[in-house]
Formats: sequence, C-alpha cells, structure tokens
Amino acid sequence: GGCQLQAMSYEEQLKFKERKVMNNLIRIGKFDEDEIHMLPIMGMEEPWRYRNKAQFPFGKDKDGNVIAGFYAGRTHAIVEAEDCLLGVEENREILDIVKRFMKEMKIEPYDELSHKGLVRHVLIRKGFKTDEIMVCLVINGNKLPGKERLVEMLTGVDGVKGMTSISYSVNQEKTNVIMGKEIVNLYGPGYITDYIGNVKYQISPLSFYQVNPVQTERLYGTALEYAGLTGNEIVWDLYCGIGTISLFLAQKAKKVYGVEIVPQAIEDARRNAEINGIHNAEFFVGKAEEVLPEQFEKNHVQADVIVVDPPRKGCDVVCLDTILKMRPERVVYVSCDSATLARDLRYLADGGYVMGRGRCCDMFPGTVHTESIVLLQKSVK
Ligand code: SAH
Repeated sequence: GGCQLQAMSYEEQLKFKERKVMNNLIRIGKFDEDEIHMLPIMGMEEPWRYRNKAQFPFGKDKDGNVIAGFYAGRTHAIVEAEDCLLGVEENREILDIVKRFMKEMKIEPYDELSHKGLVRHVLIRKGFKTDEIMVCLVINGNKLPGKERLVEMLTGVDGVKGMTSISYSVNQEKTNVIMGKEIVNLYGPGYITDYIGNVKYQISPLSFYQVNPVQTERLYGTALEYAGLTGNEIVWDLYCGIGTISLFLAQKAKKVYGVEIVPQAIEDARRNAEINGIHNAEFFVGKAEEVLPEQFEKNHVQADVIVVDPPRKGCDVVCLDTILKMRPERVVYVSCDSATLARDLRYLADGGYVMGRGRCCDMFPGTVHTESIVLLQKSVK
C-alpha cells in the first residue's frame, strides 16, 4: 500500500507531482498562473534505494514460517517482502540474520491477536555518508534471550558491513505505535552518525531524521538559497524538528531560533548544535503559535527571515498572524502538503507578501507525496 505511483514511469511521476502542486496553488490559493514562479521539480537521478530507514513487521505465514515484510494497505496482514527497492540492500541481509537468530533461539514473532510472541518489528537505519548501520529489535518483553548471539551474528565475519549500533526497544503495549519508549543498548555507542551537507547528526533509534538524505540536502540547500543570508540576519526556523534547517542556516546567519513541539527533538537539536560547534542557534520547546507571539510581544525579538516547515495540517493562523506582525523581509515556506501550503500562502499574500520563486523537491519517489518550497517577499506597498 505504500507506493501509490509505482506503476508510473519516473518522468510521469514527476509531472504528476508538479501538476498537483500547481493545481492547488491555483484552485485553493487562488493565485493567477503568472503570479506563480515554480522552477522545474528536483527529481532524483536514481529514484531507487533512497530510504535510509525501514521498519519491518514480523509475523508468520500460513505454514507457520517466520516472515518479515510490510502491512498490506489499510490492514495489519503482513505481505512478505525483504527487499523493498526503496530501501537499502543491507535490509535483506539483516532480516535473514534476525530470522536465523530467532530460529536458533526458538524465538516467536509477535502475534497481534493473542498479544503473544516476542519480535514485533525490526528497525534498520543507515547513514548514507558514513555507511554506518543501526539495528533495533522491537520486542514484546523486557529481555531478549541470546542477545550476545544476535550481536555475534550481526557483527561477525558473516555479519553486515558497517554494523555500528545494535539495541532493542521494549514495547509491551497493545498499540499501533511501532517503537517502545525504552531502548536497551547491546552494541556500539547507541547511535549512528550521518551528515547533511557538512552538518553532522547523531541518530539514535528514537530520533527523527529525514528518510531521504540526498533530497533533504537539496531541499534545505534551496531553503538556504531562498533565505538570502549575508551573515547579519536573525532567522526563525519554525517547526524545526531536530534542527536540520536551523543548523544549515546558522552557518550563514547572525542568529537562528528554532521552535519545535517535541522535547526530545529539541534535545537532539541542541546536541547536534554542540557537536558541530554551532553557537548561534537557540531552541525553544513549544508550539510555534505560542512561542513566536510570546517572544515577539514580551521579549520584542525580531526576524529578518522566517522559515516554516509545518506538518501536513500547515501553520496555525495565530502563527501566520504573528509572522505578518513581525514583517520579516522574507518567509521561506517548506511544505509536505500543497493544499495547506496554498491556503497559507494566500493568507500571507493577503497580509502583504508577494510570492517569489518556488520549487518542488521529490523526497519520496514511487509515492504520491512531494515537498515544495516557496519564497515570499515583503511587498513594498
Ligand atoms: N525541518 C524538520 C522537520 C519538520 S517536520 C527537520 O528536518 O527535522 C514538522 C515538525 O513540526 C515535526 O517535528 C513536528 O513535531 C513539529 N510540530 C508539529 N506541530 C507543531 C507546532 N504547533 N509547533 C511547533 N512544532 C510543531
């Protein structure tokens, strides 16, 4: 159920995505075609094996064999698939080792109906620039029998190249949430390292990290270009996650403030700033629509550039109103949903901003999803 467009040629997929965004800007945003300056979509040169993260559910087939794969669309029936072409080649090797390990140790996969069995999911992540690999078993229990044997099999001579971090996560809840809150480290430092541009990130099993690092670098490179920084600017990065955009921009700005609702993401952002020696980025935990007005009204903070990268539902209207009050020179809107993008751009356009350059970036080949980025400039009127 994941790759809605896989039957289409990649060229047609790209056209489909550009058209969808354009249609939304016209239909929902009520922009005239000549007001919209979208450059050609940034597609991938190689639209396969781009995902650095996979989470495979484990179960049994009709004959009782242990299988790993994906849930069939809208169900929890597992379709066996070890080598998804969007994922890395190591996935298959790792799943084979985990299955052999389970057989040797007589470990059962989890069964949702009876809430019995141990192995629920296997999370695999790879740093594309470092080739470091992480494996984390999500288990319905607080002990993993034979854990030393698992480490030996994954790291030994017949193991997996680049194996850097092995752990398990305890999830004994009856839930659709994949990862449990507790992580038990079995091997390595508890994280893998990767780079976007020249910024280094430490990624632990629970950290958020963009799944397509190649296109992320191009998208955030475009954000940097649109921000037009000279070194003197005060920049706000709203919905900053682990600070990927903030740290990218901090290298060219006077000061960057990031705002994000998830406290753990802000912990990651602060640590990532530190390991990169970036001292001009400051992070706030909270809702963009609360932190920004508070900082503006109470502390009179300024903004030359505001970058937003909200979730699918787009920006809260209080957030947009505060942006309009702060009147930065430029707003850079990064969006994963072009319908709410169009709605919010209309609001900002009516509030005194003019749409500048824009572009789609294909972060998720094979799926209907696309990222878009649009520059808005303060109108002179
Ligand atoms: N640029 C980020 C990803 C942004 S995804 C990165 O590369 O890491 C959108 C983020 O907005 C998520 O991290 C989500 O937790 C956060 N979020 C959702 N609602 C929010 C709100 N009201 N205020 C601030 N952050 C919010």
